[in-house]
Amino acid sequence: MPKLFIPGPIDVSAETFAAMSQPMIGHRGSEFEALYASLQPTLQALAGTSRPVFLSTSSAWGVMEASLRNLVQKKVLTLCLGAFSDKWFDVAKKSGFEAEKIQVEWGESIDPEVVRAKLAEGGFDTVTLIHNETSTGVMNDLTAIAKVVKSFPGVLLIVDSVSSFSAVPIAMDELGIDVLLAGVQKALALPPGLTVFACSEAAIERAKAQPNRGYYFDFIEFAKNAAANNTPSTPAISLLFGLQYILGEIAKEGLEARFARHASNNRMISDWAEKHGFKHFGPEGRRSVSLSCFHTPEGFDLSAFIKTLKSRHGFVINGGYGKIKGLTFRISNMGNETTATMQELIDAMDDVLGESTKF
Ligand SMILES: *Cc1c(COP(=O)(O)O)cnc(C)c1O
Repeated sequence: MPKLFIPGPIDVSAETFAAMSQPMIGHRGSEFEALYASLQPTLQALAGTSRPVFLSTSSAWGVMEASLRNLVQKKVLTLCLGAFSDKWFDVAKKSGFEAEKIQVEWGESIDPEVVRAKLAEGGFDTVTLIHNETSTGVMNDLTAIAKVVKSFPGVLLIVDSVSSFSAVPIAMDELGIDVLLAGVQKALALPPGLTVFACSEAAIERAKAQPNRGYYFDFIEFAKNAAANNTPSTPAISLLFGLQYILGEIAKEGLEARFARHASNNRMISDWAEKHGFKHFGPEGRRSVSLSCFHTPEGFDLSAFIKTLKSRHGFVINGGYGKIKGLTFRISNMGNETTATMQELIDAMDDVLGESTKF
């Protein structure tokens, strides 16, 4: 089976699959409550929150859309810098909300001062931010942007940390983030189908006053059930077994060591790229540490490279996403990768490319 180095879903370990293959348990019983409770401490540490972390059986988009439905009363400001963040604006419109966006060129990051100027125009009650824009490999300055949003009372901040969660530290409570969400198929290295998220007290209060929240994605239902270590509806219990295993591994490794490992694995890919003359798509200082996105150089047959890497070595990287498909390529270093496994990928890429090829 080919091994995935695409930025999600990523490679899932045999140990994780084994952990998922446990006999089923009922979700309205003490065994499940114990399972649910066991997940909380490490999830809370990764999110930097003392709030309960909710478990939604959905892909990340379920909770991204739900965050709007639970929070937006007047108007949402979406910060757009790539495929995922741009789409959040479309989803807000499609859901019937008043929405405005700040749009930057793909490859750029969001300037906190532009956010300040826009919010100063008034009328907004919610902001959406993608911490790590996976399509472009750009990581926003979460601290600075959160600080700006928090300086506007009554404006709540929704943060998608789908491809940064557990790869870098996140301080939800300290930064005053109101909804933080992450899908488990990115850095948590689980099969897709589950999203973890947490809500501030202000987010819960806002949701309570919101009509037509529905049921499946009602944050108040999540909060009520979480108080009893449970979920509103039957969750993907097998994925929760897998999550329990992964969180155990994360606790054993230690959060700081895990963050450092992601940073050093990411540097290995940067060094490899520099050797060959591949240029980063994102600007220095604002690049993701969980994946890398590079320009496709003139005269480089990207699709042949990707195809041969897969057929000869069994490694899969990504050939660009959305409107920069083909113009860029992306390599993930999320999850369980080590110096040794990153080196295997680098050796394989050098074999296909030619060790001394320089663009
Ligand atoms: C992958 C990704 C998503 C989409 O997640 P789904 O699980 O497909 O819904 C959203 N945001 C970011 C930043 C992502 O990387």
